Amino acid sequence: MPSPTSTQPASILATPIESLDGIGNARAKEFHRRGVLTLGDLIEYFPRDYQLERSEQPIAQLVADAIQIARGEVVACDYISGHGRPRFEATLEDPTGKMSLTWFNGAYLRPRIHPGLILRVQGRVKFFRGLPQIVQPKWETIEPDVPLVGQDMLRAVYPASAKLSSSFIWHTIDKNLDTALAGVQELFTPPLLAKRRLLARRHAMRAIHQPTHWQEAADARRRLVYDELMFMQIGLLLSRRLRGGRLTAPLMRIDKLLDERIRRRFPFTLTAAQQRSIWEIVRDLQNARPMSRLLQGDVGSGKTVVALYAMLVAVANKLQSALLAPTEVLAEQHYLTLNNLLRDSNVAIELFTNRTKRQSKGSLAKHLADGRIHIAVGTQALLHEDLEFANLGLVVVDEQHKLGVRQRAVLKGKGFAPHYLVMTATPIPRTLALSYFADFDVSTLDELPPGRRPIKTRWLKANQADHAYGLVHQQVSAGHQAYVVMPQIDDDGLDEAKSVKTEFERLSKGPLSGLRLAMLHGQMPTDQKQQTMNAFRDGRIDVLVATTVIEVGIDVPNATVMVIENADRFGLSQLHQIRGRVGRGTELSHCLLISDAATQDAAARIGAMTRTNDGFEIAEIDMKLRGPGDFFGTRQHGLPQFKLADITQEIEMLHQAKEDALELLARDPNLTQPEHLAMRDALSKQFGESLFLAQVG
Ligand code: ADP
Ligand code: MG
Repeated sequence: MPSPTSTQPASILATPIESLDGIGNARAKEFHRRGVLTLGDLIEYFPRDYQLERSEQPIAQLVADAIQIARGEVVACDYISGHGRPRFEATLEDPTGKMSLTWFNGAYLRPRIHPGLILRVQGRVKFFRGLPQIVQPKWETIEPDVPLVGQDMLRAVYPASAKLSSSFIWHTIDKNLDTALAGVQELFTPPLLAKRRLLARRHAMRAIHQPTHWQEAADARRRLVYDELMFMQIGLLLSRRLRGGRLTAPLMRIDKLLDERIRRRFPFTLTAAQQRSIWEIVRDLQNARPMSRLLQGDVGSGKTVVALYAMLVAVANKLQSALLAPTEVLAEQHYLTLNNLLRDSNVAIELFTNRTKRQSKGSLAKHLADGRIHIAVGTQALLHEDLEFANLGLVVVDEQHKLGVRQRAVLKGKGFAPHYLVMTATPIPRTLALSYFADFDVSTLDELPPGRRPIKTRWLKANQADHAYGLVHQQVSAGHQAYVVMPQIDDDGLDEAKSVKTEFERLSKGPLSGLRLAMLHGQMPTDQKQQTMNAFRDGRIDVLVATTVIEVGIDVPNATVMVIENADRFGLSQLHQIRGRVGRGTELSHCLLISDAATQDAAARIGAMTRTNDGFEIAEIDMKLRGPGDFFGTRQHGLPQFKLADITQEIEMLHQAKEDALELLARDPNLTQPEHLAMRDALSKQFGESLFLAQVG
């Protein structure tokens, strides 16, 4: 990201790296490859570690028997091979005296060490004929103008390569640091820095490269991590303001009577977590600022009901809702669920998918436009159809685990912006929620409806698969149903993984013969998929042999066994989603992961599944295994990558930054205070000046 430093005063920090002293074309090219184009980039090329370096002693002050460091000019050298062990000898001189250096078998040094060079040497000092001497010293050549290391120091170690050594980077930064620091601006006010006990930015910039002690290095890093997090938080808050700032959402009203009427629709008592999330949503709906809320909860935590509550509030306020699902199967599932819960009500629900017949599309479009339809359920097709809503008040997006939240729905109401609720079934690790989703408010269902029992998960080797199919038989005789999931639809002959088609044949004739089996996969025509789903839901099928199409949305509480073949082929979060298809009733459910997991990573994923049922824990583990960047493909979201911050570790500071960013924008909404100008500049560089168009106050 263009960082706050690289902006002002442009004249200094914008200096191209190739115009710095001592940087030729080759070096400049290496710097460029590392993203260092300017002096500003250079001082943001942060060390990866530090190494303790002892101080240099004047030669006259060297003492016997201790390991010490000295520096001087080579005034003589010689290779002696006549008698005894061959050795290379050099005499080193500094203003206080001379010393001798000896390398046994040092022939290789002949072309490298010669009079006139300045060496820094380290080793145990002995005295020989009154002169200090080091045998087999460590040595390096030093440029003439590099100052003496007067005391023990921490030397920064930079990410480096053979062509661009850490020590060269160190010297380049060292030579230019003072000049560069003059261009570094403070970003925050003294009270804020004091509150968070942060170093001044200029101090931190110096100390991260040249700390005087470990604590200072840590403090410097902390300050600069804070800046990165603040930069992102403020950017996200501003872009949210831009989206919502000029737009007004329809105000909804709710009273006790309506609340009771809605609740009566649900055949169960809401969990405390559902209750809390509903309050949070209702508060938003009563506000003219469009809601932008993420509802996250583990599979089966009851998100749909919460969304339905919100949609019914909209209906009561004579506003329409749209419920968008990622797949047709899921849209249909939602449609059925809603119909079921709203039986004998006057709420008009309609389903729009690619399958919707052309003629019915026409009348549906008409009824959306005249407001006769209250709730429209559909896939993204609903967005592409160019449909017009009479009075759209609420958009609910069920993203499941496909977090495309950033590609916002562009559903528009007439004259106002709808409220916006995104449901996600993959719990987002707290750190990600705070960073990447800073522009959403988050409601969390951290509790499952009562009576749910943890799914008993076991890991079986391929040669133990009989156990799994034995259990399927046993559960089906007890009146339950099962899923068997395969990693692919067809055998392509190249891949050893099991496939739905082949295994369906094999299981029907062999291990699962006598049971009613059906296939479900993405290549089937939609009606056939739907028929199969309905048959399974109605209990006319015992075992569904499927691909991951079942991973989202399917809700058949009577299914109590999940068998996953080649379990190592699936990601951890995905395994958890698939497992979530069972354990949806009050019966004990089982998940059997079959795999000879070859890799350590696969073993870690399957092991995690057997240890915990907690989606939040799974998500954290998954993020650690894959790294936050890959976790949700967040790279595609075009959000800044961090140079220093590791958001899997920086939870505490993320919280602080979010809080501080909100407070800062409340006091200085357009960042016009002098202290904030540097931040403002950097933000408009990253996000565009339009970020500030939604002038507030
Ligand atoms: P999610 O979408 O979060 O995976 P659902 O909304 O599909 O979860 O709910 C899962 C199942 O739990 C559904 O069968 C639903 O009817 C049921 N359910 C939801 N809330 C409750 C509750 N408070 N008590 C009992 N069952 C509930
Ligand atoms: Mg659901």
